[in-house]
Formats: sequence, structure tokens, C-alpha cells
Amino acid sequence: MDERKLKNQLFRIAAIMIISSILLCVAGGSVLYYLLKTAHESDNLQMRIETEEYKDRILKQLDSNMQILSTLSRAYEVSQVFDDPDQLADSLALSNEGNDFISIVYMSVDGVGILNTRGYGTWEGFTLEDCNPYSREAIEQSFQGEDAISKMFDSQVADEKVFVYSVPVWRDGDVIGALAASDSIGIFTDIADGNTVMGGEGYVHLINETGSCLVRSKNTLVKEDIDSIFDGPYMDEYVKENTRQALINQESVYGQFKYEGQECHFYTIPLGLNGWHLFCANRVWGSATAVLNVMIVIGVVLMILVVANGLLYYGFYIFKKRTNELLNMAYYDRVTGAENSLRFDQEYAEASKKNNFSVAALNIHNFKAVNDLFGNSGGNKVLCYVKKVIEQHLKEGEFFCRDAADLFYIYLLETQEDILLERVGQIINYVRESSSNAAYSYEISIYAGIVVGGTRENALVALQSIRGMHHKNIAFYNNALHQALRDKNDIESAMYIALKNQEFKLFLQPKNDLRTGQVVGAEALVRWQKADGSYRYPNEFIPLFEANGFCTKLDIYMVEQACRQIREWIDAGNEPIPISINQSKLLFSNRSYVSELEEVVDRYGVAHDLITLEILEGVAMNDMELLISQIQLLHEKGFRVSLDDFGTGYSSLNMLYQLKIDELKLDRGFLRKASNGDAARRQIILEQVIGFAKKLGISTVAEGVETEEDRRNMEALSCDIGQGYFYDKPIAAQVFTEKYMHNRA
Ligand code: C2E
Ligand code: CA
Ligand code: CA
Repeated sequence: MDERKLKNQLFRIAAIMIISSILLCVAGGSVLYYLLKTAHESDNLQMRIETEEYKDRILKQLDSNMQILSTLSRAYEVSQVFDDPDQLADSLALSNEGNDFISIVYMSVDGVGILNTRGYGTWEGFTLEDCNPYSREAIEQSFQGEDAISKMFDSQVADEKVFVYSVPVWRDGDVIGALAASDSIGIFTDIADGNTVMGGEGYVHLINETGSCLVRSKNTLVKEDIDSIFDGPYMDEYVKENTRQALINQESVYGQFKYEGQECHFYTIPLGLNGWHLFCANRVWGSATAVLNVMIVIGVVLMILVVANGLLYYGFYIFKKRTNELLNMAYYDRVTGAENSLRFDQEYAEASKKNNFSVAALNIHNFKAVNDLFGNSGGNKVLCYVKKVIEQHLKEGEFFCRDAADLFYIYLLETQEDILLERVGQIINYVRESSSNAAYSYEISIYAGIVVGGTRENALVALQSIRGMHHKNIAFYNNALHQALRDKNDIESAMYIALKNQEFKLFLQPKNDLRTGQVVGAEALVRWQKADGSYRYPNEFIPLFEANGFCTKLDIYMVEQACRQIREWIDAGNEPIPISINQSKLLFSNRSYVSELEEVVDRYGVAHDLITLEILEGVAMNDMELLISQIQLLHEKGFRVSLDDFGTGYSSLNMLYQLKIDELKLDRGFLRKASNGDAARRQIILEQVIGFAKKLGISTVAEGVETEEDRRNMEALSCDIGQGYFYDKPIAAQVFTEKYMHNRA
């Protein structure tokens, strides 16, 4: 998957998770808040309803008692009983027995009356002065023509609190007295006994307008003995003040307090009588435990959800981190921190669709030497430095990667060759100049291949076309390079099959005695004959085979072809001539080379001295000691050794001395230059080389003898053998046999 897409997706998942957790918390919180609010409201509502019902019950009871007293007064009025004190006393006693009052009193407006107390009998001559002040207050109110109920006071006869109902007694439209009855607070028995409201959790008290308890439930929430609802540390000041005001104003009020660490709430409601109020208290949730339980469950579920979400997010965070690490591992190069080719290819795929571009491949000349000189860490530093320089030279929208080893690719938003040369040249120059100034004091030289609008593979082809060439550091990709690459690929994919199908043919070119013209030997030269009959020449594939190692197989194969040919000649009764076979330098680094060679030659029963092995002069440069020992081995086995292309590389006479060769092949170029007459000096050198070889017993071969003049020239220099078009071209072995071998009996 594309890294950006993956990152986008991760971002989206993270966003969804965060938003969903927030929504979940908000929704859960709202639900919880709503439930709490509703439950609290319904708790309050229930408290109010029950308190109001209680109030109704109390008022009804008071009302019915008052009714009884009024009816009694009406009856007395009609029966004119007030005029006769004895009759009144009897009547009062009788009435008192018929209902639940404690005492019943008639008081005339002049302040004298009759009292009957149950169990104590009648007190005639009872005066207003004898009355409890609260009952006097009520009676005096009735003198004004009103029904009244007194405040409570301690009964003088019974050990309980009592209060007094009082109604006026009328005659001819005037109040002549008042009929009053005292009643115990039996009416509030429910309260006093601690009977509960609100499903058994709430308590109701009767209080007055100052908050003092008139009747306090036995079974109360606050266990301490208190006289007023404001006593104790339970209510805070604000609630106290609020409640006090409500009591004075005869209003209902809700409030809350804390008791034993628990939230409690209360509701007061005025009775509309004597400034009395009902005060109902309950624990919060005391009556709504079911709702509370539901809410606890919801709360717990919500908590679990939040925790689960948190865990999920944490898991996701770890996953994201890991994914980023993996992406880093997958897309970034560890040594330099640059992107790798995988990432480059992804970016390339997207960017190349959108704009015109070029790709440059950059490589360090002989990076191996950097590693050898400064160690791996030094090499890595150089790579990091190159990375930094490339980075600094990029424009917006351009990118690069480090592929393998010292190979970098840059995607450039340029298409003009001169600008590309300038920009890539800047990078190359910058690295070179700064590296030679830096601690290394080693010039890091970079070369580059560029393709306009192509792939990094194309850029690499361009790069490879100038590998090892120090005179040129930037190459552009073109069709010829492309063709070369195609050919290279074609060759490499076909070479094994070609070997198996015997497409590599033995061609022979004669070697002639420069004086007599006699054929004294032949050089084996390979031709690749394709299935369609066309030929490929060695220069098209030998360098490639040397690079990919296939040459070692081909060379041994060619030795075998040469041996087969010699065998054929022998079998045909022709006297064989020696054949020289070109041997690639790779063979000499193989220590079992000589024994493998011997095995092949012996298989055809060919005398070893009929086989000459041509080694390139360049081979000698690499590992002199190994070469010397291999040559010695070859000699021990009786093979002949020839040094090919002498004069093309760094030939030295010393080499002739060190290498015990049998033959020296002077490169064609020597001959050309010599006959061009450009320098008598060269002539002298040739003369010296040939003379020197002669003295060492080494025979000399002049390559590329094309004309009679060439032949004469070389003969004049005492060269032994000539090879070239003057005598013959390389020809198929069969043709060679017919032409040169049939007359050799
Ligand atoms: P070389 O060993 O120097 O072979 C001589 C080359 O010079 C041959 O080219 C030959 O055709 C060419 N030549 C011969 N006489 C003349 C002449 O008078 N004028 C000119 N201009 N050229 C002449 P060829 O056959 O194309 O081979 C090229 C090179 O390929 C050889 O150079 C040799 O180094 C390599 N080679 C050929 N066959 C093999 C092989 O089987 N194994 C290996 N390892 N290398 C081979
Ligand atoms: Ca040769
Ligand atoms: Ca040669």
C-alpha cells in the first residue's frame, strides 16, 4: 500500500476514534446527567407530593375537629344553655365525653367561664386569666368573631403538648363568648411516632416559622437531639438563610444538607396555620435506590466504555507507532536516512504522471577504494555527506533515494539537457571540492547518468556507459545505449543455450612464417552463429562474457573445439599444426585451471605442445605471482604460452623477463604506427623488443599484417611470424582444413 494512503488511513482511524470517544463521553455524560437530574427532580417531586398529602390530612383533621366545635356552639346557641351555668356545665361534660377533646371550655366575653377536663370534672368560675396564654390568644380571637387554633403548649393536666381550637358563640348577631377545646397533638401522632413517608425513607416534622421543632419524629434522620432544624452543622449558611426567609414568608422551599457524610434533601411547606410548617427530610436517593442502581450500572458501563476506548486508543497508538516504524524500515535507508528505491518508485509513479521530469543516477568513482581507505564507517560518512549535498540541491517537488551501495537516484523537474548538465554538475562539483578540502583529503568524484522522461533503469544504463571513464562524468541516455542494453540482455539470456546448442563456432586464422609464408600455426577465434545463420563477432560479446564470468566456460569450450579439430586432422592423416586459443584472465585466478585444461586436451589425445594459450598483456598486471606460477604449471605440462596484444597496455621489458612465455604477439597498433613512419623511435623500440625476445628464446608474432609492405617491414625487424589479412582472414575451421591441411600429409 502507498505510504501516504496508509498514513491518511491511520489518521482517519485516529480521528474517528477520538471523535467517537468524545461523542461517547458526551452522550454518556448527558444521559447520566439527564437521568440524575430527572431522578433528582422526581425525588423532589415525590417529597413535595407526599408532604402536601400529609398537610391535607392534617388540615382535614383540624377542620373536622373545628367543625365539631362549631356544631356544638350552634347547638348551645339554640338551646340557650349559656344562660344557665349548671346546665352549661353538664352539657360541656356530656359533650366532652362524646368526642376526643381533652378539655372543653366556655368563656364569656366578660372573661368568666366553665372548664371541663376529661377525668377531672368541671371547673366553674374559670377565668380567662387562668388560661394558658396561647389558648387565651385563641379565645380572644374568637371574641372578635373568628375561628382560631392556638399555638402548642404543654398541657397542665396531661404530660403532652396540646393546642386549642376556639369558635365564637353568637346571640342576636353579637359575640357573647367563645367555645374552646384543647386537643392533644394526637393528630400529629404519625409524625411523632416516626411513621415515615416516601417509601419508608422520609421523615416529617412539624416546625414553626422560626424553624423550631413543634413535633419531631422519634425516628428521625438526624439522630441528635435538636430543637430547631437550623441546629447543628448540617446545613450550610446559604441554605439556612434561604430556608429562614421561606419560613417567614410562609413559602415552600427545597434545600439540602449533609448528614454523616451523606447528601440529604428537604422540603418545607406552610400549613397556613399559626406559622406552622411541615418539614420533610430524606437522604438523596434514599427513596430512589432503584434509579440510583440503574445509574450506577450506566455509570459503570460508561466507565468501562471509556476505559475500553482508552485501551483501544492505546492499542491503536502502539499499532500506529509500529506501522510508522515498519514504514520507516520499509521506505528509508538505514545508513543515510534517505528514502530507498521502493519509496522512490512509489513517488516516481505518482509524480511522473503529473509533470515533465528527468531521472539522474549518481555513483561514486571507485567507492571501494573509499571503503578500503577509511573503513566502512568512513564510507558511510561519505554516503551521508553525498545524501546531504543532494538534498540541498533539490527544488520543491524533487526527490531522491539511495538505492544500493553508492548508487543514488534523483528525480528532477528539468528536461533541458543544458540545465540538467548544470544542476547535476553542481552536485558533482560541490562534493568533489568540499571532499578534497575536508578531513579526507581525498577527492570524492561522482559520475552520473541522466535520462529525460525515463526510468531509473534508463538512467543507470547511461551511468554504466561511462563507468571507469574519468574524462566524462555525465552521460545522457539515448537509443544507442538502450539498444546496447537490449543486446546485452539478449546475449546474457541466450548464452547458455547457445553453448549447449553449439552455436559458438571455431574459426581459424593462419599464422605464417614471415620469410617463407608457410602456415606454421593458427589462432582460434570464436564466432557466434545464430540459429538464423547470422554471425556475432567477439567484440560484441567477449567483453560482456568477461564481465559476467561466462568467458571461462566459453574458453574451455574453445580449447575443446581446437583439440577436436587437431584430432580430426590427425585422424585424417594430416600433420597437425599448433592452435593458439585466447584465454580470458578469469581463468588464471582459478587454481585448478591447468588440471581442467589438461583433462580436456587429454580427452582428445592431443600432444600438449600443439596447444598455445594466449593471455592478454593486461592479465599480467593483476596478480603477477599467481600468473607466474600458473605459467610454470602450464610449462610443466608441456603447453605453450603466448603473450597477446603486447604494446597496448603498460608493457615493460621487465615483464618479458619475469614471465616465462614462449611467444610474444605484437599488437596490430604497433605495426600500424611503425609503418606510418611517424617515429623512427618506435621502430627502434620494436627492434629492441624483438631483439630482446629473441635473446630470451621467445618467438615473435606480428598481428594485423595486411600488406606485403607490412610483411616486409616486420621481416626486416627479424620478427618470426605474421598473422593478418595479408595471409588470410579468420575462416571456419572446415574451410581452413580444406584450404591448408589437406596437402599436409
Ligand atoms: P585477438 O586475440 O587480438 O584476435 C585477433 C583479432 O584481430 C581477431 O578479431 C581477428 O579477426 C582480427 N584480425 C586478424 N587479422 C587482422 C588484420 O589483418 N587486420 C585487422 N584489422 N584485424 C585482423 P576477432 O576475431 O574479432 O577477435 C577479437 C578479439 O576477441 C580477439 O583479439 C580476442 O581477444 C577475442 N577473442 C576471440 N575469440 C576469443 C575466444 O575464443 N576467447 C576469448 N577469451 N577471446 C576471444
Ligand atoms: Ca589472440
Ligand atoms: Ca591480439
